[in-house]
Amino acid sequence: MNTTTPPTAANFFNQDPLALDPDVVPQIEALSLVRGRPLIVTDCDEVLMQFLVGLETYIETQGLWLDLKSYALTGNIKRRDTNEPLAPADMPALMQNFFAASTGSLLPVAGAADALKSLSVRAQIVVLTNIPVIEKDARTRNLADTNMPYPVVANKGLKGGAVKMLADMVDAPTFFLDDIPHNIASVAKAHDACHRLHFIADKRLAKLMGQAPDSHFHTSEWHEAHAYISERLDASGF
Ligand SMILES: [Mg+2]
Repeated sequence: MNTTTPPTAANFFNQDPLALDPDVVPQIEALSLVRGRPLIVTDCDEVLMQFLVGLETYIETQGLWLDLKSYALTGNIKRRDTNEPLAPADMPALMQNFFAASTGSLLPVAGAADALKSLSVRAQIVVLTNIPVIEKDARTRNLADTNMPYPVVANKGLKGGAVKMLADMVDAPTFFLDDIPHNIASVAKAHDACHRLHFIADKRLAKLMGQAPDSHFHTSEWHEAHAYISERLDASGF
């Protein structure tokens, strides 16, 4: 889960899966990508970093707690004293404050750094994360501090457009990892040849959601994702 606004069905389904935000294009153009070399495009929250645990730690300081009854934040964040859900109108400010307070200090997902280090011998790696641009440096530092020194693109909205642009630049096997099915669906529409992994690090979240329909593989474990990607690279001759 990674949202600057709550992930309601409406604000996903109203988006064009191929849309590319104007702020994202120059970030992708600035990457040093090698044509012909495989590419792994990975989400950060709930894939590389423990987003939910970090959010729970933060909202505790605000007198709130997460009652994880469904795969959504809005409606499930409640006041400790009254147990009333936080109003949807208060969610954007809460998330903005959380990102500002915690982006630089999230805890890594177990096995992520070792798996990416191993895969980086055979593929180039880009972190495509829906985060306010202002938090991009903190996220990049947080990743580097936890042995994941890979370039970060601060995306907005669905990820299909960005993945298509990245894939066109490398013209080689491309992999995409994300916890949000809408992002995986948009990548399927934008670049169907992309190998799509539905990765949800938090086991509580993984239990609340089955495999995303447009994904090829579903896991909470980096050693399994590593094996899946390695096998596909082997099969492609890389
Ligand atoms: Mg995520």
